Amino acid sequence: MSDVEQVVDSQDRAATREVVILGSGPAGLTAAIYTARADLRPLVLEGEPSSTSDQPGGQLMLTTDVENFPGFVDGVTGPELMTSFRGQAVRFGAEIATRKATRVDLTSRPIGIWTGDPGAPEPDVRTHALVVATGARSLMLDVPGEARLLGHGLSTCATCDGFFFRDQPIAVVGGGDSALEEAIFLSKFASSVLVVHRRKELRASKIMQDRALANPKIAFLWDSVVEEVLGDAKLEGLRVRDVVTGAVSDVAVNGCFVAIGHAPNTALFAGQLEMDAAGYLATHDGTRTAVPGVFACGDVQDHVYRQAITAAGSGCMAALDVERYLEDVHHS
Ligand code: NDP
Repeated sequence: MSDVEQVVDSQDRAATREVVILGSGPAGLTAAIYTARADLRPLVLEGEPSSTSDQPGGQLMLTTDVENFPGFVDGVTGPELMTSFRGQAVRFGAEIATRKATRVDLTSRPIGIWTGDPGAPEPDVRTHALVVATGARSLMLDVPGEARLLGHGLSTCATCDGFFFRDQPIAVVGGGDSALEEAIFLSKFASSVLVVHRRKELRASKIMQDRALANPKIAFLWDSVVEEVLGDAKLEGLRVRDVVTGAVSDVAVNGCFVAIGHAPNTALFAGQLEMDAAGYLATHDGTRTAVPGVFACGDVQDHVYRQAITAAGSGCMAALDVERYLEDVHHS
């Protein structure tokens, strides 16, 4: 067991932390860097490697090259970027435990966090302030080849990876606003964009439909579902099934973007924090939730921008909000 895990396991079981951060993507680790530099000795529960939705480092661990994060002239890989974030947080004294929260009690003061048996009577960690940076996950197709080729031609982020498909044929899966937005964006780079949708009607707003339908580079494959993502080391095509006729065919593309929606990782907070209909956390006045001492940043509260840089920015905001909150708590 690492020193850091002992922080959760024994040493500090009874002690109360100033701030605990749930999540280790750009939002959580930026909050860690800032709160560590403010001498608050943050504890980051970074998630667990076994879990796809809570893996340490967040969604960037699933991408290859990141070319739009400012400061990297020649780009950087997602995992390298997150390793740097992590190293920087640790350098200033953040403690990182490879654990995830299994239960939180936001009504108690200090706030209680369980990392093991959620039915245990006592929490494993208590904290004056909590930063929720648990992120969101892209919904996936759950078909053969998907896990193998994610980051190798299969992507969930056109803004991140579209540039790599200049003058190449690609596909987008989905029929909502995200899918059409991605298709329109990708049409600037790709030679052709095939939108594969499981029905004949699009879910997307009329304006997006009009734009996509009028775009000469975008074609539609209606009533079709992806049955398999093809290719060994890199994506070479999709096996699709026509849901009306049952016919199965292969489509040759070099890239495929899955855009069938996102889901925030907020199940832990059900009944305790305000969420919108899709489960994203509600924040006000910066990163505050309606519960004093609980702050939310990054994709868990943002379904609009969803970029590493915006997540990092809101992680910084959360840290500054935590500092102010703790000053008020300790001096009132
Ligand atoms: P949506 O839930 O709106 O759309 C998801 C799409 O993916 C649907 O067409 C759905 O098909 C399809 N889909 C879902 N599951 C599967 C599956 N397993 N296999 C194949 N296809 C599947 O999600 P979005 O991310 O597109 O949008 C989320 C919200 O964000 C919406 O409110 C949207 O309006 C908003 N948004 C707005 C934008 C803008 O205004 N510029 C841009 C992006 C998002 P089906 O239609 O059959 O259900």
